[in-house]
Amino acid sequence: MKVNLAEMYVDDEIKKAAIDVLESKRYVKGQQAKEFEKEFARFCNVKYGIATNSGTSALHVALLTIGIKRGDEVILPSHTFIATASPIIHIGAKPVFAEIDENTYTIDAEDVRKKITDKTKAIIPVHLYGHPCNMDEIKEIAMDYNIKIIEDACQAHGAEYKGKKIGSIGDIACFSFFPSKNMTVAGDGGMLVTDNDEYAIKAKALVDQGRLEGKKYEHDFIGFNYRMSEILAAIGRIQLKHLPKWVERRREVAKVYNELLEESSLILPMEMEWAKHVYHLYVVRSRKRDKLKEFLKEKGIGTGIHYPIPIHLQPAMKFLRNVKLPITEKIAKEVLSLPIYPQMEMEKIEYVVKSIKEFEEHQTD
Ligand SMILES: *Cc1c(COP(=O)(O)O)cnc(C)c1O
Repeated sequence: MKVNLAEMYVDDEIKKAAIDVLESKRYVKGQQAKEFEKEFARFCNVKYGIATNSGTSALHVALLTIGIKRGDEVILPSHTFIATASPIIHIGAKPVFAEIDENTYTIDAEDVRKKITDKTKAIIPVHLYGHPCNMDEIKEIAMDYNIKIIEDACQAHGAEYKGKKIGSIGDIACFSFFPSKNMTVAGDGGMLVTDNDEYAIKAKALVDQGRLEGKKYEHDFIGFNYRMSEILAAIGRIQLKHLPKWVERRREVAKVYNELLEESSLILPMEMEWAKHVYHLYVVRSRKRDKLKEFLKEKGIGTGIHYPIPIHLQPAMKFLRNVKLPITEKIAKEVLSLPIYPQMEMEKIEYVVKSIKEFEEHQTD
């Protein structure tokens, strides 16, 4: 049997939506992106959505919108995708890495507090794998020091913290619609969401060459072309309609894994009682991670490592080599993402579990 790590979803409605835009000959700055922004903002329970051409550009714009400048410090985890950090560095600000919590793999608020200096201007909690960060603790720190919060929600569409939608808690939240995420635009895309009127105006302008809405060749900011194209927005709107049931399906797959793997030697993902986890990834831990990965590959099972190298140890980040994050560094050696997607059939889940058990029987120590 062959089991992929993830699978994409395309249906006739999506194909028709793409063709309709093609035939409309309106490819950018049209009605599709506008409607998608409104619908996604409503989904997150916030006032504004601003569509972008990637999650990375949403993060870049979010940082500039809250006023991050050269020399400022931004606290974030190192156990995340590189794009949480790279926009900070492009601005000339300094990424300051905090440790993660060993249960949820999200940023450790206690360590965040230790890393605050008089230059700290923002915190980026990453709702990694689809599990929300402990936002009350982070909000408390932000209030104590008058610091802004940008949520990296690129893996957490539909997740909830204490009943609140992820995206509605920080000052700004950023989502990605990269094809592997819980919903996609069938290409690169992202969304910045906020409840703040001023931030919405500025972010919207930065995404569109620094022009305020309605202006053509007058530019109030030095902006970018980070807009989302119409075909992608049209596809995103349909994917968004499916998202709530996809989230529930992912949670069901995770529940089956949890039950069937309970007796195994693997450390299984946790869902805190205040969290609604959306299982963008189902991540287990094993000290024999690399061997297990290889074994599953031979069985036709695709797995992933998210992420094998913490950001502070990346080749491009040599200037950060004095950073020490023992928990982050240990976890990077143990994590393994098992196949999960909404349409995953029971027999495939069982096959993955059976193969893991077979691996464990062959291990002697
Ligand atoms: C995917 C992802 C990003 C970047 O999103 P893109 O759309 O690929 O630019 C940023 N942060 C995290 C945690 C991600 O998973």
